[in-house]
Amino acid sequence: MSSSTHNEVSFKDSVNLSFDKAVATLDVAPGMANYIRNVNNVYQVRFPVKINDSIETFIGWRAVHNDHKLPAKGGIRFSPHVNQDEVEALAALMTYKCALVDVPFGGSKGGLLIDPKQYDRPQMERITRRFAYELIQKDYIGSGTNVPAPDMGTGQREMAWIVGTYMAHSPGDINHLACVTGKPVSMGGIAGRVEATGRGVVFGLREFFRHPEDVKRANMEGSLAGKDVIIQGLGNVGYHAAKILQEEDGVNIIAILEFDGGIYNPKGINVENVFLHKIASGKGVKDFPGPAEYFENGAELLEKECDILIPAAMEGVIHQENADRIKAKVVAEAANGPVTFSAESVLEGKGIVIIPDVYLNSGGVTVSYFEWIKNLSHIRFGRMQRRYEETQNKLILQAIESSGHPVAKDIADKMGHGASELDLVRSGLDDTMRVAFQAIRERYWSKEKPGSYRTAAMALSIEKILNSYNALGIYP
Ligand code: GLU
Repeated sequence: MSSSTHNEVSFKDSVNLSFDKAVATLDVAPGMANYIRNVNNVYQVRFPVKINDSIETFIGWRAVHNDHKLPAKGGIRFSPHVNQDEVEALAALMTYKCALVDVPFGGSKGGLLIDPKQYDRPQMERITRRFAYELIQKDYIGSGTNVPAPDMGTGQREMAWIVGTYMAHSPGDINHLACVTGKPVSMGGIAGRVEATGRGVVFGLREFFRHPEDVKRANMEGSLAGKDVIIQGLGNVGYHAAKILQEEDGVNIIAILEFDGGIYNPKGINVENVFLHKIASGKGVKDFPGPAEYFENGAELLEKECDILIPAAMEGVIHQENADRIKAKVVAEAANGPVTFSAESVLEGKGIVIIPDVYLNSGGVTVSYFEWIKNLSHIRFGRMQRRYEETQNKLILQAIESSGHPVAKDIADKMGHGASELDLVRSGLDDTMRVAFQAIRERYWSKEKPGSYRTAAMALSIEKILNSYNALGIYP
């Protein structure tokens, strides 16, 4: 569902309007604001691939919104609806989210106009490799220039094909693995990247709930435990966010929406069972045996009463026509751009708190950053220190126990090991999400009064981009 269906401004204009609102809270020269707002370059390519006995032409894009820091970073989307406007909007969001969470990258995004369901695996491989080749040819892929990653419709498999294609064309590049992130761990990927965006959403929500003043603003109290949550989209982001929230934080998942409808049960739905049903049936939530009520028009469920609504699929699902009927207390934007610019003011008018995409879904690119560093340093995180830490921790335990203070077994077990790559990735992600939210809320409650977390977050991003231009001698 795109925002244009509802007579609204385009996705790109929606992002730009949010930018304008944030810039208005700062003292920025209009020419500079105009420069930062717009996409620096975008490459459109058409290429042929032989499918069965005929030639099919494919169209793709790679946009670089901003390269104040290199490489420019962002996923590649495979979708039958992707277009240049969407790719540019997503590239802009990449710039702002990287700046916000101090991931030292510019913003980029790619898209290929394709319905992946229409092609078999060997065909998808040929198409992906050919698209990658076209991008490599024009310098739109490289560890120091532009580093793609998964997005909607792509995953580890496509990233492996991209790195393989890159290697074939740059045989002498010792840093070839860093040309793309989200790779399988066996091909230079990093532990915890697949779950990263979903886990980042959870870390973001946990941090929100650590601040009673902010929680009160959303007419709630307490912690995440027991809160009623609706998830829209059980893809990579929605699935991990929902599963972790259910299993580790004790939230009550009351509704799950997918492309073929929605399911609802105020007593709670087991996320893993729905996920297994999806895999086994090849469908979304249709025919899920329950216990849950099936709604053919899943979008209706967005409007159910709940504490937290998590749109985790795509842009424009909360728009000017349904915004007034949303009854959540918090809308947690796990997807990019799920709330349109005009819907945002309707939600705000109703006192609904939005935790914005530029912050909340930045976990994916944050862990991509860790993967890129791993690839450039050519060593797995923890390899040098894990056993050393383990030995030191055991020595500390021995010292405590020999002084006559026995340590409980569960604590001793937790203490007695060194950090694995996954432990370090999760710790780095948790820290990133905490620090960024603290900065956003501080700005939100400050005398600048940005009025929303989104405006506060975007203002912080713009300041950081300006600082980096300043250091480059570009900002007067
Ligand atoms: N596609 C993801 C996003 O929208 C991840 C980008 C990346 O890891 O570079 O943030």
